[in-house]
Amino acid sequence: MVVWATVDKNAGRAGMKPFVIEAGTPGAVIGKVEEKLGIRASDTAQIILDNCRVPARNLLGDSEVKSGRSARGFKGAMKTFDATRPIVAASAIGIGRAAFEYARDALAKAGVRMEYTKPRWKLTTTQADLLEMEAQLRAAWLLTLKATALLDAGQENQLESSMCKVKAGRAVTWVTQKAVELLGPLGYSNELLVEKWMRDAKINDIYEGTGQINTLVVARLILGYSRAELK
Ligand SMILES: Cc1cc2nc3c(=O)[nH]c(=O)nc-3n(C[C@H](O)[C@H](O)[C@H](O)COP(=O)(O)OP(=O)(O)OC[C@H]3O[C@@H](n4cnc5c(N)ncnc54)[C@H](O)[C@@H]3O)c2cc1C
Repeated sequence: MVVWATVDKNAGRAGMKPFVIEAGTPGAVIGKVEEKLGIRASDTAQIILDNCRVPARNLLGDSEVKSGRSARGFKGAMKTFDATRPIVAASAIGIGRAAFEYARDALAKAGVRMEYTKPRWKLTTTQADLLEMEAQLRAAWLLTLKATALLDAGQENQLESSMCKVKAGRAVTWVTQKAVELLGPLGYSNELLVEKWMRDAKINDIYEGTGQINTLVVARLILGYSRAELK
């Protein structure tokens, strides 16, 4: 695993460095394995580091603690989010799409059709919900494409990666809940995967920065505020 440790308390965030701790290292113990709402195929466990000695060669990157504009450490960790936030957004969109398409196809069998050209007031609430579900997912998908296209081109994408993560995290949470709702008691039953998708959705709004924290990142970047000015 990769852990972050403070090697120089006086250097603040620049004094945080990542280390690899190999499996089986004495003093690194797996504690309680959590029983979770969703993503149950992925284990989340307490890790106890007690007298765990890690060789200096396991340090990732530069050992020098720099301050000022050349400081890495924590900043380097934040930079990895530019690549990982769009990945979480993509995972969210996949779950949301599965739930949306299942609900759409099941309702089509009951005679509820997607209506793209009628004015909104002529739609049933179920048709309006289906359109909104698709629109939310499409918006998240376009933002995610933008974030990843910039990343591929080697361009700055911090704003777009946080934006797509906020949008996709919220969209998947709402879309999967709607799918459960629209399908009635069957949606809530574990006969179908829809309830599982709803349980798996929320984590996408939590890890790699919560929706609230990514909203703060977006606000700071758009308004030009520092961390200290907008928290
Ligand atoms: C199942 C699971 C797997 C995870 N996997 C990993 C992993 O592999 N690697 C890893 O590094 N981390 C992982 N995490 C950690 C995850 O990224 C954090 O839990 C998440 O970022 C929230 O941070 P926190 O726990 O410190 O919550 P807190 O900071 O205590 O936040 C609690 C709540 O307060 C809100 N909040 C906090 N500050 C503000 C603010 N300034 N303004 C508005 N709202 C605010 C948050 O948005 C959140 O809703 C995992 C978490 C879970 C649940």
